[in-house]
Amino acid sequence: MRHFFPQLNDWLQALPDTRVAAQCTYETRFLAWWGLLLYVLQLGSRRQANFRLEAAGTFVLANLNRLAQTEQQTRPVHGTLDHFVGHVASAAWAALRTQLVQRLIRNKVLDPARLLGHLVLTLDATGLFAFRQRHCDHCLVQRHGQTTVYLHQVLEAKLLGPAELLFSVGSTFIENADAPPADGPRRSADAVKQDCELNAFSRLAPQLKQEFPQLRLCLSVDSLYACGRFFQVCQDYGWSYVCVFKPGSLPTAWDEFQRLLPLCPGNRLERLLPNGVRQRYRWVAALGYTDSDGRPWSFTAIELQETVGDETKTFAWITPLSVSAQNVEMIATEGGRDRWKIENQGFNRQKNSDLNLQHLYSTDPEKLKAYYYLLQIACILLSLWEQGSLLRQLAAAAGSTPWQHFGSLKNLAWRLLESIRCFHWPTECFAVGSRQRIRFAPFNSS
Ligand SMILES: [Zn+2]
Repeated sequence: MRHFFPQLNDWLQALPDTRVAAQCTYETRFLAWWGLLLYVLQLGSRRQANFRLEAAGTFVLANLNRLAQTEQQTRPVHGTLDHFVGHVASAAWAALRTQLVQRLIRNKVLDPARLLGHLVLTLDATGLFAFRQRHCDHCLVQRHGQTTVYLHQVLEAKLLGPAELLFSVGSTFIENADAPPADGPRRSADAVKQDCELNAFSRLAPQLKQEFPQLRLCLSVDSLYACGRFFQVCQDYGWSYVCVFKPGSLPTAWDEFQRLLPLCPGNRLERLLPNGVRQRYRWVAALGYTDSDGRPWSFTAIELQETVGDETKTFAWITPLSVSAQNVEMIATEGGRDRWKIENQGFNRQKNSDLNLQHLYSTDPEKLKAYYYLLQIACILLSLWEQGSLLRQLAAAAGSTPWQHFGSLKNLAWRLLESIRCFHWPTECFAVGSRQRIRFAPFNSS
């Protein structure tokens, strides 16, 4: 892990900082770390940095200088950070995230989670901000009866890793140009959501292909992606997918699936899990579908019926992967069901903790995007730390697991804040050591 820091400092220093050099009191990488610490230490707002990272009487400045390899004489205030964030275009923060993830992919950090050779990429949209009054020209406008709300949303792409690692690799802000015109024919909220998200996907996909051209990806998506436009992008870019399949999404293909299921008795796998859950997988290969532009598509549809006591739930997906009794469970689990992680470990954690995703770190729309990327980069660093074996070794030295030792992720962040304030971090902590293999396990595993 240590050898990672000098590299990270080089990347941070290389951020295109447009401040006037003569007036720069602070080095670029120092301020970039200051911004990342806002989220790594989960301070909740910029203002809190002034108080919790007070330099007087603490080791904050000295520790931060060692982290950033700088020799700053004072500590910045939160306004300095905001000024700096505005001088580094949000695209540069996005590019920094890409460099970081490309490096982790090259170091094979995600490889244990590959699904039939593919890295699983989950896609989902989420709400960021809602205003009663127009906030900027890009707000999505939604009318509910007499009230109008102005929204900001984002379409996120996150790679699934081993343990509970989840790395943000692509973000496209959903803007008013993505929505159908407000004075057009009235459409259901679902139809509008679908339109917005698919339009954002059309911008996100070429960007991802450009940044990760060689990566074998399997996209894990909701049923709104079951359409010719999505299938075409996947075909053009050589991506596979596992897409939720519902009766309403492709009605003719669904009917055909139901008709053919009893005719394929060999395509079946039954499992009894240790917790008493009974699973029955069935599948139909080479199911055909012609989209509204007349393009023919073919995929395998998988059905999973899961029975607990006398309650049975049914799930279904479509995929171009070749499905067999040997891999059906893996495809349904890692390609299909693990999609909930983007909601749970992704959006829920970022919104309902002091990462405070929905907090207005700035009122400026461009800066808000920059803060969004800073938060995503900090979350990548956090998950490497929270799930990494170095933390487990530290807890093991005290005879416990990280979960037993720290009690919660919030406590872990609090302990790090205490450490940066109250302890002199020795130089050896930052020395480039021999390469050490870091292994990952969920923070709350025993
Ligand atoms: Zn706005």
